[in-house]
Amino acid sequence: MKITLVKGDGIGPEIIEATCQILEASGASIEWEEVVWNEESPDVEPIIESLKRNKVGLKGPITTPVGKGFRSINVTLRQRLDLYAGVRPAKSLIPGRYENIDLIIIRENTEGLYSGVEHFVGKDAAESIRIITRSASERIVRFGFEYARKEGRKKVTAIHKANILKCTCGLFLETAKSVAQDYPDIQFEDRIIDNMCMQLTKKPEDYDLIIATNLFGDILSDLCAGLVGGLGLAAGANFGKDIALFEPVHGSAPKYKGLDRANPLAALLSAVMMLKHIGKQDIARRIEEAIAVTLKDRDVITPDLGGTGSLSSMRDAIIKVVSSKR
Ligand code: NAD
Repeated sequence: MKITLVKGDGIGPEIIEATCQILEASGASIEWEEVVWNEESPDVEPIIESLKRNKVGLKGPITTPVGKGFRSINVTLRQRLDLYAGVRPAKSLIPGRYENIDLIIIRENTEGLYSGVEHFVGKDAAESIRIITRSASERIVRFGFEYARKEGRKKVTAIHKANILKCTCGLFLETAKSVAQDYPDIQFEDRIIDNMCMQLTKKPEDYDLIIATNLFGDILSDLCAGLVGGLGLAAGANFGKDIALFEPVHGSAPKYKGLDRANPLAALLSAVMMLKHIGKQDIARRIEEAIAVTLKDRDVITPDLGGTGSLSSMRDAIIKVVSSKR
């Protein structure tokens, strides 16, 4: 089985190379099909072809020009390959302001405000169209409930702003309530997005699995990453009908490029999700154990986690533990 590999740009190549080295040391024996990403001449087609062929991929972050330039490659991949479900766990791995957080955020990946339908109206006004369909809402909510069952989760919370966005969020909420009736074994509730942000910072332990439309899911997953120690720990996966693409939640953090200080764990934990997806549960668990051991050593972990170590010290420490347990 070959797996598509895209290292991305910014800190992408460093964190993905470290991840591949750890996977190799763990005995995962993965045959990569690397698609080289060139930010000077961006071309999404070779990535799409490779993912269509291999069905599974690991990807580093790719920079999107702000306010101008080409459309986000990340959003394009999710839309073109119909990778409709973004799965972003947020779990306490280090001591922090909060303890025992264990949340999963499920984000609708293909429509909403990311539909890309926006334009200027004259010179001084611009509009963006937020598309919400019953079919996409139904499949993301159903995916969320199925995921909750698979992961033994007890409660699903649907996020909306249906008090104001009565058509778009109203449709999403109505659909979520209707799908929830097919899952009587799982508690269902809904929250308005602004209240949800406040609730999450006050009592995150009250929540279990959260389902949201595209933009709300994007924002909430960064918020939840912050609750557990930052983006350096935030893993992610995008699932379609038969293709799965694993990537950290964070972006290319260009200010850390080449400084050996980017945290590789978001990429590594995304690869752990990938190992579970392809049936290598034992190796995935071994890497998780090695991460837990490594996170205890402040001299080894990266500065974003309060440590004095570097990307390479973290990588080497994980490799040492993981290879000793083979
Ligand atoms: P970012 O996630 O790249 O970085 C925000 C901040 O988070 C950084 O400044 C840094 O302090 C911290 N951070 C992120 N990853 C880290 C890591 N591994 N280790 C330590 N600290 C880390 O967000 P941004 O600055 O808003 O975006 C930069 C670029 O990345 C933009 O072009 C954006 O479009 C793109 N982006 C890509 C993806 C993706 O490829 N899926 C996701 C988000 C953003």
